[in-house]
Amino acid sequence: MVRLIFLDLDKTLIGEDYTPSPALPIIEKLQSIGFKIVFNSSKSLAEQEFYANKLKINPIMIVENGGGIFIPKDDPVSQFVNEREGKYGVLKLGLDYSLIRRELDQIADEFCLKYYGNSTLEEVVRFTGLPIYLARLAAMRHFSETIFSYCSTGFIEILRDRGLTVMKGSRFITVTGKTDKGKAARTVIELHKRLDEVFSVAVGDGENDVPMFDVVDLAIVVGGLDYKEAVATADVAAAVDFIETNFKRR
Ligand code: MG
Repeated sequence: MVRLIFLDLDKTLIGEDYTPSPALPIIEKLQSIGFKIVFNSSKSLAEQEFYANKLKINPIMIVENGGGIFIPKDDPVSQFVNEREGKYGVLKLGLDYSLIRRELDQIADEFCLKYYGNSTLEEVVRFTGLPIYLARLAAMRHFSETIFSYCSTGFIEILRDRGLTVMKGSRFITVTGKTDKGKAARTVIELHKRLDEVFSVAVGDGENDVPMFDVVDLAIVVGGLDYKEAVATADVAAAVDFIETNFKRR
């Protein structure tokens, strides 16, 4: 039996100050009770690699709100993936960034949209509160854009009419192709089912985590999000305590 845990990053595994160190004991505890960690975040590949390195893990990374899945070469499920990019097998579920940019650029003036592609690095720092070295990594997009600010919300309908997925995260609005964190999590679960039985858990805090809650065996909500079928916990440390209490291998 493979035990998979899908972890949201923003405001779940990673707190307001973006430092990775508080996540270290969380990751160690999950590994000690036999869970395989999968990042599932709206963050870019470059940002997720930053956190993976700091936490000394080499996880499967679902990037940019389900836009794509990067599977390390030495992971047992990478054998099922044909496309390669650097040290990863890649599954593209969403749309290429350039296509999303084209749609946004057409309506940016009308709705005063600000996003990575039309912001300077200094503006990205101001909107996100990211330190500059992380802002630079965040701006390296593959499959999505992130809308930081707008003057009216009419753009959401327009983008949805054009076949794009528009999702509210814990901080910003993400625009992707027809994908979400749930579609990507289901894909990762299916890949593992080709090798073994799977027990799956997801931990998250935002509206964009709901699709991933829908596809796992156990959903754990951090913070105040209302999702009826989930276990509700105060923070990720409490979520992991719950998992340890109920799923420790005997
Ligand atoms: Mg979040």
